[in-house]
Amino acid sequence: MHQNTEQGINSLSNTQLEDVIAEIEQAIEWHQSWYRNLLRCLIADIPADEQNLADNAHNLCRFGQWFNKLPEQTISLHPYFSDIACAHQKMHQGAKVLLSLKESKSVIPANLLDQFHADLDRLRVLFDTLIDEFSELLHTRDPLTGASNRTNLVENLQKEHELCKRKSLSCALIMIDLDHFKQVNDEFGHAVGDKVLIALVKCIKSHLREYDQLYRYGGEEFLVCLPQTELEGAKSLSERLRAGVEALKIEIGKGKHINVTGSFGVALINADDDIEAAIERADEAMYQAKKSGRNRVCVA
Ligand code: GH3
Ligand code: MG
Ligand code: MG
Repeated sequence: MHQNTEQGINSLSNTQLEDVIAEIEQAIEWHQSWYRNLLRCLIADIPADEQNLADNAHNLCRFGQWFNKLPEQTISLHPYFSDIACAHQKMHQGAKVLLSLKESKSVIPANLLDQFHADLDRLRVLFDTLIDEFSELLHTRDPLTGASNRTNLVENLQKEHELCKRKSLSCALIMIDLDHFKQVNDEFGHAVGDKVLIALVKCIKSHLREYDQLYRYGGEEFLVCLPQTELEGAKSLSERLRAGVEALKIEIGKGKHINVTGSFGVALINADDDIEAAIERADEAMYQAKKSGRNRVCVA
């Protein structure tokens, strides 16, 4: 999963994500109740449901009916949706065989039951992974801007740092803070301030590579991690970001717009650094940029 791809689950708002998760959880419950019912038919003296004996049983159960009505948009959110369709069909085929044996009063061979349960487990793993990924995104993303929040920041940066160290490559950080942002809120209102933050993140993301990471570090402070990047590269990207932010036009209604600027602090994560110390240096460089007049890039 990657934060810079604007496709798949990343394209959903947090509310939409919550809705999809709730829907999947409901569908899993239907599936669990189907399974309990199946066990009753297999073990107790209860006749099998006609629909479970049908060739298209996977389309007839409540879960299958829900699944078949999912819009293409939802299916394309994650490749696991089509894996689930296959696993679900396979599991129903297995269930049908077990039920037919029971109906004809034959003994069910252990290997068939084991295979059925293996198919069932596969389906459960797919459900769980899907829910985990959706929930992870929900809890690690800032709902306003779509940038990552700080939940996994240190852990993710440590991973990037380790990868870079192994290849003897540098990893760079950029701390970004909007200039006089309080004034924007005070003069034009909080909604305009929010609009600025959304536009800022869109602008930063448009300059990043696939494996760069963007975090909302504080209210109007953002941290960019650039794996495999030397100081010069980070500096020139920061300069492009600075110019990009300066060029943003934020509509404030009645055909009017405002401009904003940001201050940028660049630092490398040194080989034996701890991440917090490197963030601190990027932060200090950003304050240096503030002190020396704002709307500029400073390097630690
Ligand atoms: P400086 O150039 O020194 O950074 O000045 P500043 O005004 O940007 O800094 P200050 O820390 O004084 O103010 C930051 C402001 O950011 C105050 C706070 O209300 C605003 N802010 C933080 N989070 C949000 C948000 O989610 N939405 C909006 N609209 N404003 C926010
Ligand atoms: Mg500020
Ligand atoms: Mg600030």
